[in-house]
Order: sequence, then structure tokens, then C-alpha cells
Amino acid sequence: MIMRYKKLKRTGFKVSAVASGSHIQQMSQEQCNIAYNTALDHGVNLIFTSAAYMVAEAKITAAVGDRRKEFYIVSTTDYRDAEHASKQIDESLKIFKTDYIDIYNIGGIRKPEIIDQALAPGGALEALLEAKKEGKIGHIGVTGHRPEALEKAIKTGHIECALFVFNWALQNPLQDMLPLCKEYNVDTFCMRPLEDGMLDNHAERNLRFLFSSPLDIVVSGMYTPEVIDYNVALASKSPTKTEWEELQLQARELGWTGCRKCGLCLSWREMTGTTTTCPYAINSPMIMTLYYYRKKYGLSPNAEKRWREFIGVAKKCDDCGKCEAICPYNLPITKYIHNAIRETP
Ligand code: SF4
Ligand code: SF4
Repeated sequence: MIMRYKKLKRTGFKVSAVASGSHIQQMSQEQCNIAYNTALDHGVNLIFTSAAYMVAEAKITAAVGDRRKEFYIVSTTDYRDAEHASKQIDESLKIFKTDYIDIYNIGGIRKPEIIDQALAPGGALEALLEAKKEGKIGHIGVTGHRPEALEKAIKTGHIECALFVFNWALQNPLQDMLPLCKEYNVDTFCMRPLEDGMLDNHAERNLRFLFSSPLDIVVSGMYTPEVIDYNVALASKSPTKTEWEELQLQARELGWTGCRKCGLCLSWREMTGTTTTCPYAINSPMIMTLYYYRKKYGLSPNAEKRWREFIGVAKKCDDCGKCEAICPYNLPITKYIHNAIRETP
């Protein structure tokens, strides 16, 4: 099994087709040591993280800091203003025990007004441009769940790569992010390739869909040697045009609720804290994302168990309408919730 690498057009990086994510807050240092060292041993050479994940940068450094030359490091600020973003870059450099971070992102973009703050004079973009000039960071990226907000950032011309949600259940990047990034010569990364394990009943097909698509790099939460082996084996096989065409045809058959997984209907986090939308914490984003997928393909036993937990909470819905009032795409969320409850005996 030989890792497949891709030369990215904008940053010029030569990156493994699958990169490591870092939702590792709950993992022990010992587990992180095994996960990141195994990933590097398999040829994974990019680790994507965020300063907002609190301990993630420190755990990565403790695990593979001494192998810094073997991987690109990507981190992210959730701050919107230049002063805090600048301090955060310096803090990341200190934590990573390095003098250079390959890519630094403006992240957590769930509302267009947030990106407006970050792009305005005195905003986070200024701090990233300054850090780039000073050689503290190599490239500037953007991450988030709102294609129209990422678009605003990309159109400044300063953004060199973008990370967004893309998987078999959420295919909208084929229509929005991927053509936009191609037009602006922006390198592309996707997160949640198996929707936090919920799409694992067709894992091979769902991952090959991404590996054969026009996307550059899949960022995957690979935290055990078995999962790393599996991801690397699938990533290593070169896709053919026929494979992509066939998978795309199949994928097109899936219905779509219109959800982009922005999360606003449940709650959202800003540096100032978390704001709750649904009084019962009903996981509408997950129900909206999986609704048609489950109907068509079912779920694995584990995923179905989690789905039933979501539905158990969803039964508390009192139709208060707060989720629909905040949904940027005016989606009929409660209709889907009630249908999902009915269809989950
Ligand atoms: S309508 Fe239901 S799901 Fe939506 S916010 Fe109110 S209780 Fe939550
Ligand atoms: S239903 Fe609307 S508000 Fe909720 S996650 Fe999807 S797009 Fe966002």
C-alpha cells in the first residue's frame, strides 16, 4: 500500500490524498501518540487542526512534534479581529514549538456577518496577512459551513485553500464550493467524509466518491490504527474517470433536504460563548443531513442506534419554530423532524 500524493495547485504542497483531522479533545495523550505516529508512518503528511479545539495543538505536538519536518501543519483561528487572531497565531507557534505554520485559517464561519467582520479593516484577515509577510505562516485558508460566507472570503483573492463539509449525504459542494474554488484557484479540503461515522454502512463507496471527485484532499478523523489502515488503503488507489462518473451517477439519486449542516438550528459557538437555538437540543442538523440517506440505504447498527437517540430527543419538539426562523435557507425543518419520527418505529 503506497500512499498517493497530490500536488496542490495554489499552495504547491504535495499532500497525501487523505489527511488527519483532530477532534481529539476527548482522547488520551497515549491514544493521540499512537494515532498520529501511525498516520505519519503510513505516509499521511498533513494534520488539520484548530486553536479553538483547545488542547488539540498541544496533544499533536506531544505526539509528533519531534517529527515536525514530516508533515504540514494547518491550524485555525475562530477570532474575528486582528488583535486576537494575531495573538492566537503566536500562541499556536509556541504550542507547536515551531517558527512556521504551513497554513492558518479563518474558521468557524457559520454566518456571513462573521466573515464580514473577519475581512473588514482591523479583522482577522489583516493579522493573517501580516503573519504571512513576517514568515510566521505560509498560506491563508478559510473553513466553515456556509458556502456563501466562504465565497466572500475567497473573492478577496487572499484565500489559498478552503475546508468545507462534503460527503455522500451532503453533495452541495459539487455545485457551489468546488466550482468556485476552481475558478479562484483555491486548494480544497473536505471534513466529515463519513459524517462522524454515520455513513459507515457504505464506507468504501462513500469514501471513494470523495477520492475520485474533483476535491483535492479528504481530511479524516483517523484515530485508531485500523481506521488509518482502512482510509490509507482507499486513498492510495488512483481513481479513474469512469469510477467518478459511475459514483456521481449513483450519488445523484439521493434526495437532499437542502441542509448545509451550518448547525444554527441547534446552537452555535462564537468566541464569546455558545448560543442555543433549540430549547431541547434536538439534533436537527444531523436529522436533516441523514434523512434521505437513511431512507435509501439504511444505517449500520451503530449509526442506527445513534439515530434513534436523536429521534428520542426529537420527540420533545413542540413546534416552537425557532429552528426554522434561524435557518438561512428557510428549510421546513419541523416537517422533516416529524417525518423522521414517524419513520422510526
Ligand atoms: S421547532 Fe422543535 S426542533 Fe425546532 S427549535 Fe423548536 S423544539 Fe427545537
Ligand atoms: S437545517 Fe438549516 S439551520 Fe439547520 S443545519 Fe441545516 S442549513 Fe443549518
